[in-house]
Amino acid sequence: MNKNKNKMLPDEPILTISVAAKLLDISIPTLRVYESEGLIIPYKKKSGQRLYSQRDIQRIQDIRKTIKQYKVSINGIKFLYSLIPCWEYKKCSDEERQACPAYYDYTKPCWAYEEKSDTCKNADCRTCPIYTELSNYDSVKELIRRIKELPILT
Ligand code: SF4
Repeated sequence: MNKNKNKMLPDEPILTISVAAKLLDISIPTLRVYESEGLIIPYKKKSGQRLYSQRDIQRIQDIRKTIKQYKVSINGIKFLYSLIPCWEYKKCSDEERQACPAYYDYTKPCWAYEEKSDTCKNADCRTCPIYTELSNYDSVKELIRRIKELPILT
């Protein structure tokens, strides 16, 4: 018998919103606020039902820690996310940058815009490294530490 058969993979979205809320010890409306504010992107089934993975739970724990420990508001977190230079990772042209609100705006992360640039309009933000990796605070800090080494920025 395969021992890993019942093991949950980190990116597998199988937790319902009520299970996720219970695991996080928060209310379902709070989870909905995090989504509507653009802090998280749960997996959406065709029926509209939201599902969460272990990685989503970890992300929400990190967000909660930032809110509580560092006294950063939801708008503050959105501001921090808006500073991630997605245009460098996506190698957007000057023309695309001029047409993209994420390049100018400071109010929310790139994935929270309904009208996305041509580069991103058909992308799945939930699986994009900008969302999955670079919006983790440790990754942002590491990015800033290594900013001169990054070939994309030279
Ligand atoms: S695909 Fe989504 S998360 Fe990735 S850079 Fe584009 S808008 Fe941002």
